[in-house]
Amino acid sequence: MTDKARRLAELHEALKDCRRCALHESRTNIVLGSGSPDARVMFVGEAPGYNEDIQGQPFVGAAGRLLDELLKEILGIPRDLVYIANVLKCRPPENRDPTAIEVETCKPFLLTQVDVISPRIVCALGNFATRTLTDRREGITKLRRKVIRSAGRFVFPMFHPAAALHRGDLYEDVRLDFVTLKEFLESPELAEKAAGPDTSQMELF
Ligand code: URA
Repeated sequence: MTDKARRLAELHEALKDCRRCALHESRTNIVLGSGSPDARVMFVGEAPGYNEDIQGQPFVGAAGRLLDELLKEILGIPRDLVYIANVLKCRPPENRDPTAIEVETCKPFLLTQVDVISPRIVCALGNFATRTLTDRREGITKLRRKVIRSAGRFVFPMFHPAAALHRGDLYEDVRLDFVTLKEFLESPELAEKAAGPDTSQMELF
């Protein structure tokens, strides 16, 4: 087992019976993350849903199938070459939005995952991931497809794939975010140039 895989396994062990917030009362499994510990690209969603809670794996429902499709078709890679996680590790009842206290409670574990994986770019899927990983407060429609340098990392806000499931007219925009991501991955200099200065007040690591 590599050092990164070991550190992720230790994190899972430390969290599998987590009772730090009330979500433990209704969850079936914690959902830490999945994929390659050596991934160059990491995706961060919002929180587990029904299927994720049952299986203990992120993005295994309809949004996950769309994510897999876009990874394969646009980036040309299977999901096991990237790393996928969420802001919250437990499912909120009825898939309601995460509360501020739940995000603050779970955030250190997401930051540990980012630290262990050390990806070239962290793709923040939707508003919750973008707000958790940057100090920017504009909405996702404004921030998507911009590279944000935050606490020494490149964060790339994208529409959450679920947006295209709820609103079919957003499908092309969801695809476009992946096309732009591919351009940045192919040209790190482009990402470097596109990212502004690191203005975050966040001390992540
Ligand atoms: N599945 C997840 O794991 N996360 C989301 O944000 C949505 C679906």
